Amino acid sequence: MIPFDFEYYRPDSIEEAVNVFERLDNEQKQPIYLGGGSEIITLGRLNQLQTQAVIDLKRIPECKALQLEEGVLVLGAGLSLTEVAEANHFPLLTESAGRVADHTARCTITLGGNICSNLMYREAVLAFLVADSQAVIAGKQGIRRVVFSDIYNKRLHLHRGEFLVQIATDTKLLTLPHRGVKKTKDSRINYPLVSCAFLKCDGRLRLAVTGLCAFPFRMREMEDCLNDDSLAPEERIKQCLRYLPAPIVDDVEGSAPYRQFVFSNTLAEVIEQFEGRD
Ligand SMILES: Cc1cc2nc3c(=O)[nH]c(=O)nc-3n(C[C@H](O)[C@H](O)[C@H](O)COP(=O)(O)OP(=O)(O)OC[C@H]3O[C@@H](n4cnc5c(N)ncnc54)[C@H](O)[C@@H]3O)c2cc1C
Repeated sequence: MIPFDFEYYRPDSIEEAVNVFERLDNEQKQPIYLGGGSEIITLGRLNQLQTQAVIDLKRIPECKALQLEEGVLVLGAGLSLTEVAEANHFPLLTESAGRVADHTARCTITLGGNICSNLMYREAVLAFLVADSQAVIAGKQGIRRVVFSDIYNKRLHLHRGEFLVQIATDTKLLTLPHRGVKKTKDSRINYPLVSCAFLKCDGRLRLAVTGLCAFPFRMREMEDCLNDDSLAPEERIKQCLRYLPAPIVDDVEGSAPYRQFVFSNTLAEVIEQFEGRD
């Protein structure tokens, strides 16, 4: 049971959603946008979230977009992870997001909900970071488009009242050589110890990681080390570890040394797989 009452809004358009948010905000109702609602319900039940109003984004047509046109794949933030995986236009995204939770949960969890989650994993972010995708964001000032990695620093930085509408990815990047690797403690369905997305573009391996530190990240300095073929693989991996953006997570799922070991092994496997391949 959720131990507080809240109002429920289901706007039909972007403009209506933004206006409803502004009105509710002015009324001090602490409105929040709702994707699949699985996290909001969980945190609400645990009394770790307070709101008097939720705004469901799933009836907004742009948030349910799934289209490939003019060299761009557009995915609405209100699509479920299952819808994204079944369409499979972006195989690296399918690999990364397709192992979030279990199939039942993935039918509810939305792309926007995973990307804007309060939990640290946000595995769907990885593919968009390495593909330099664009986030399409709506707010009171209208629509803005921003390269994902410019707005994603530990989390997606949105202004008050803004929400994620879509993510747009250049189709040339969708089918490049890639690999998604998720390593869990003891079962296939679990939060990741380490989850990585690798994409080989213009002869260089790109890498985004989550699970290792307390947020998903892509570090260009790590990619430089990973691609420095004047060094032996072990040395490249050692150099990569120097550029971690935060301490390695140390919790009941896995100690920091164990996560580092798992990450280093993953890099070794992937260097071997991609060595010499364009
Ligand atoms: C059983 C289970 C297992 C899980 N396992 C994993 C896992 O292995 N890996 C992983 O990465 N995650 C995992 N998760 C986390 C899950 O991906 C997140 O909790 C996600 O937020 C749920 O998506 P949702 O659409 O239900 O979000 P909601 O509950 O609707 O929203 C979550 C947050 O995102 C915000 N939000 C939603 N949509 C938007 C939008 N379009 N624009 C701006 N803000 C928005 C909401 O305001 C809220 O703060 C798991 C969750 C469950 C329940």
